Amino acid sequence: MADSTKPTTNPETLALHAGYRSDPHTGSVAVPIYQTTSYEFQDTGHAANLFALKELGNIYTRIMNPTCDVLEQRVTAIEGGAAALAVSSGQAATAMAIQNIAATGDNIVSSTNLYGGTWNLFANTFKTFGIEVRFVDPSDPENFRRATDDRTRAYYAETLPNPKLQVFPIGEVAAIGEELGVPLIVDNTSAPVICQPLKHGAHIVVYSTTKYIGGHGTSIGGLLVDGGTFDWEKHADRFPSLNQPDPSYHGAVWTEAVKPLGPIAYILKARVTLQRDLGYALSPFNAFLFLQGLETLPLRIREHSRNAAAVAQFLQGHSEVVKVIHPSLQDGENRRRADTYLSGGYGGLVGFELAGGLEAGRQFIDALQLFYHVANIGDARSLAIHPASTTHSQLSPEDQLATGVTEGYVRLSIGLEHIDDILADLDQALSSVRSAVAAE
Ligand code: PLP
Repeated sequence: MADSTKPTTNPETLALHAGYRSDPHTGSVAVPIYQTTSYEFQDTGHAANLFALKELGNIYTRIMNPTCDVLEQRVTAIEGGAAALAVSSGQAATAMAIQNIAATGDNIVSSTNLYGGTWNLFANTFKTFGIEVRFVDPSDPENFRRATDDRTRAYYAETLPNPKLQVFPIGEVAAIGEELGVPLIVDNTSAPVICQPLKHGAHIVVYSTTKYIGGHGTSIGGLLVDGGTFDWEKHADRFPSLNQPDPSYHGAVWTEAVKPLGPIAYILKARVTLQRDLGYALSPFNAFLFLQGLETLPLRIREHSRNAAAVAQFLQGHSEVVKVIHPSLQDGENRRRADTYLSGGYGGLVGFELAGGLEAGRQFIDALQLFYHVANIGDARSLAIHPASTTHSQLSPEDQLATGVTEGYVRLSIGLEHIDDILADLDQALSSVRSAVAAE
């Protein structure tokens, strides 16, 4: 039984209660949607204190909002972090996580196993900002050390990247980062609750809340969570923007300014400089929808995981399928990492390769009836995509292979329907591939 004198760390409880009890003005139990741009100051002294960060409070919804604040507090509690910042998309969260500490002439070292949008941001858009991204194979964590120099500002990776679904060695790379003075940023979008990257040594977590946190395919959003564990002052030469006077905030030195507030230099700077200047703000309405999603996230992710494991087993024995990609079917070091870093399930994603290649991939997708054919993951509904004819079709066959996509590869995001109905749809779609191939 939990000790009632200590704050709970159970995600099921935190997802419902952390950061809010009821509205002090109305008693509203549901978190209200504070659909306001601005907040009345009590007097000029109060206003001056807020702007000078002597007191933390609401100024303008681009920078903070009470509905977004509850979402931030709730996710911070679940992750075991120090503070969070809600933003308008997962892409905004990743961009801001890096831009907050890297500038022209700097570099970051990133795992090669990335969501395609992140890959583009890193390989192309960051290049135009003068930020170099050094891509390394995460199968050997030491590759991160080898790529580090004195202009390296962060390590970046995804906990459970698709299509390969090989869990990232969070603890190993975080330890290298601790040694060299480089924080590890982890995108935990595909593994909320089943992985808490901060507990394994990561320093910053980012999310596309669009996926499992929202959970119902309705809203785009993102989050950055600051673990509060990275010693920015110890590595002052590497992080001048946190340790030297910031001209954009009348000379504030962020590591000094936060001393009365806690270890939140990174996230406070992100909020009051980048969020202020670039305006990646999340709408309060979307924050409300994410809060609603969060309430059932611990339940849902377990059920997604259970269904996905059953799908992996089913596909494994199917004659049209040459390979199934799911952590439960991995062995060796990949399996060890999956079992070290994931608990309570392996997540909702499954990949597989059809014997019939490109044509079979197309036929399979077209034959699905229950699954939606969409470029998304993490919906309550089951989703499928054939990357070679869609998301990866602009890549050369060699580049497709490097990202883990073969011509017959299909990605499934397994939903919360009854497992019998999920398997029946997969079975009939696979049969139609079989009959199409047989009729040729
Ligand atoms: N990170 C991962 C792992 C994703 O799958 C995605 C989107 O598919 C993103 C980030 C980007 O998120 P958003 O679409 O909310 O910008």
